[in-house]
Amino acid sequence: MKFGIAGAGFSGAVIARRLAEAGHTVDVYESRSHVAGNCYTERDPDTGVLVHKYGPHIFHTDDERVWEYVNQFGEMVPFNHRVRTTVGGRVFLLPVNLLTINQLFDKALSPDEARAFIAEQADTSIGEPANFEEQALKFVGRPMYEAFFYGYTKKQWGMEPTELPASILKRLPVRFTYEDSYFNHPHQAMPRNGYTEIVEHILDHPGITVHLSTPYSEELRGQYDHSIWTGPLDAWFDYRYGRLGYRTLDFEEIRYDGDLLGCSVMNYGDYEVPFTRISEHKHFAPWETHEKSVAFREYSRECGPDDIPYYPIRLANDKTLLNQYLEAAEDADGVTFVGRLGTYRYLDMDKTIAEALTAADGILAALDEKTPIAAFYVTSH
Ligand code: UDP
Repeated sequence: MKFGIAGAGFSGAVIARRLAEAGHTVDVYESRSHVAGNCYTERDPDTGVLVHKYGPHIFHTDDERVWEYVNQFGEMVPFNHRVRTTVGGRVFLLPVNLLTINQLFDKALSPDEARAFIAEQADTSIGEPANFEEQALKFVGRPMYEAFFYGYTKKQWGMEPTELPASILKRLPVRFTYEDSYFNHPHQAMPRNGYTEIVEHILDHPGITVHLSTPYSEELRGQYDHSIWTGPLDAWFDYRYGRLGYRTLDFEEIRYDGDLLGCSVMNYGDYEVPFTRISEHKHFAPWETHEKSVAFREYSRECGPDDIPYYPIRLANDKTLLNQYLEAAEDADGVTFVGRLGTYRYLDMDKTIAEALTAADGILAALDEKTPIAAFYVTSH
């Protein structure tokens, strides 16, 4: 079979590889001038720092299959992501842990005391949280919600947290220990030479041809037995029902002779501070030494037609437009939708890779069994 794949990020690359290994011919079309999508990394010529061009990406997973997979294509160096937040002129540790609680309330509580203290503040009248705010009030209570989550979330998403799904906050743990690692997963790492190299290695197969700076046009679609679309779901349909909403990011570069933050990511929880966070990229590679530094202030705003879509906005109470596109996708012939943009979901890299592997296996199984290839290979929308 001849497959045309739109997009050379993790989704497109992983599927391309699997299909090529099974003996199929795969052409990958990438509209940008480089592979690796928003995981793209490159060396900054002035400082030598490996920069995550589209914002920080930290690899973490509890999926052994995914962990083994990435390790085949590049060296992963253990990396424990730690985040700090500045609120009201004070610095706290994230995710919320025992030190954060003790600092904010000026106490010296033990784990059990802190648990009881937070339970007193939590809103026990909330059963199943219907939105981000309810999720926060139920689990951390109002003072902590207002200090760490309300302002940041309103800046990041451009709306009240009551309009956002609870799932966004479920990404972050709350701990009653002094453990301040941002993620809980057993595997947490950074690629020694960046994500670009890993994606290049995945795509390096005789059955795969990559076309950079080439959008996957209508004419190209007609040349293939089947298409894999990792671009925005609504773009495949030429936005026929309207545009799905995204947040985009603006990065403001800061050059500094020395150490600007002393950590890789500093969040800014106050709504009055216009940026959400600053990332200082030399701290993503603690095994390297750099005198000079490059960092980025991150501003979130509504994504216009010519901006890069980053975060899909899935409102807590509105899935109408999305459902129209999902139905259209189920009815479309000859195309499978994958990835963050193709399925319009807030996906981490490990989930993206896991779903791409599952999709490729599903496509190969359908070909074996001579059954139709599905529009989606995801467990839930
Ligand atoms: N969040 C917050 N305060 C913070 C950090 C995160 O309120 O200091 C909320 C915010 O709504 C954000 C979500 O938690 O969108 C998920 O945060 P995460 O750090 O996973 O965001 P990412 O790195 O994916 O942008």
